[in-house]
Amino acid sequence: MNKIRLKDREFILFITSDEIEKAVTKMASKINNDMAGKTPLFLVILSGAFVFAADLLRKIKVDCDITFVRLASYSGTQSTEKIRELLGLNEVLKDRTVVVVEDIIDTGHTMDDMIHKLKNLEVAEVKIATFLLKPAALRKDLKIHYVGMEIPNDFIVGYGLDYDGFGRNLPDIYKVIPDL
Ligand code: 5GP
Ligand code: MG
Repeated sequence: MNKIRLKDREFILFITSDEIEKAVTKMASKINNDMAGKTPLFLVILSGAFVFAADLLRKIKVDCDITFVRLASYSGTQSTEKIRELLGLNEVLKDRTVVVVEDIIDTGHTMDDMIHKLKNLEVAEVKIATFLLKPAALRKDLKIHYVGMEIPNDFIVGYGLDYDGFGRNLPDIYKVIPDL
């Protein structure tokens, strides 16, 4: 099926599960090379990254820990500034090699925030592994070590990514068909 509808929007097939699988395999092989002799902690950012993480981590061959965190955003009562809280982190990160596993980096604000939080926890090193990157949207100076695919500035769904809660279960990635 080339076209799907989720709620009020139509989406068209953009990246097939076969292409996804190839890109994930490449990423895993790079990470396996770089992490040889280390025992990294993979920090999976929920919810979107759960599908990618399941695929990636089954291809990781080095000894590793895996944990899941969520960034909860809420607006402070005193200001309109967005405050993000890191939920679910129980591991001691001090002196660890941490690989952050993310589904997509758009403006980079979420990841930048995460990196600052991790540096405060005195990690030995942080690497970023994102399945998708929108280079034209990136506003932060981030060193992104592992990227599955670079994509244009379109809104996409599937492979863990949702539109208003729907579409995370789709094995392929679709992009929104803009309103005319
Ligand atoms: P950033 O902070 O880099 O701008 O945004 C990162 C977050 O925005 C991602 O983790 C994801 O939740 C959401 N996001 C960015 N682009 C897309 C997209 O094309 N589709 C979906 N479903 N979510 C996106
Ligand atoms: Mg995400």
